[in-house]
Amino acid sequence: MAYPTRSKPLADELRRKITSGELTGRLPSMLSLSEEHGMAVSTVQRAVQALRREGLVRTLKGSGVYVERTSPTMATCPVQGCGGSMEQHGYGWRCTRCGATAPGPSTA
Ligand SMILES: [Zn+2]
Repeated sequence: MAYPTRSKPLADELRRKITSGELTGRLPSMLSLSEEHGMAVSTVQRAVQALRREGLVRTLKGSGVYVERTSPTMATCPVQGCGGSMEQHGYGWRCTRCGATAPGPSTA
C-alpha cells in the first residue's frame, strides 16, 4: 500500500451514496470509476475492498460489485433535513421519522 489514503475519499463518497440509498444494485465498473475520479484502477479497487470489509458491497465473480445491505437499518433517511433512520418495510425501506420510503435492495 504505497498510498493508503488515496482511496479514502472515494470510499467515503461511495459509502455515503450507499448508506443514503442513492447507490443501489450494481456498482459502476472499476474502469469507469477510475476514469470518472481520475485515479488508478488499483486505487478504486482498494476503496471497494474497504467497503467490502465493512459489508457494504459484495463482489460476484464475473458479474461485478453489488451494493449489499446486511444491516436491518439504513443509516439515514434520504429526505434532506429529516435525519431519521430507515427501517426495513416489506420489500423496501421506510423512515421511522417522516415515513418516506425507499426501494429495497436490488435482487438482480
Ligand atoms: Zn425521513
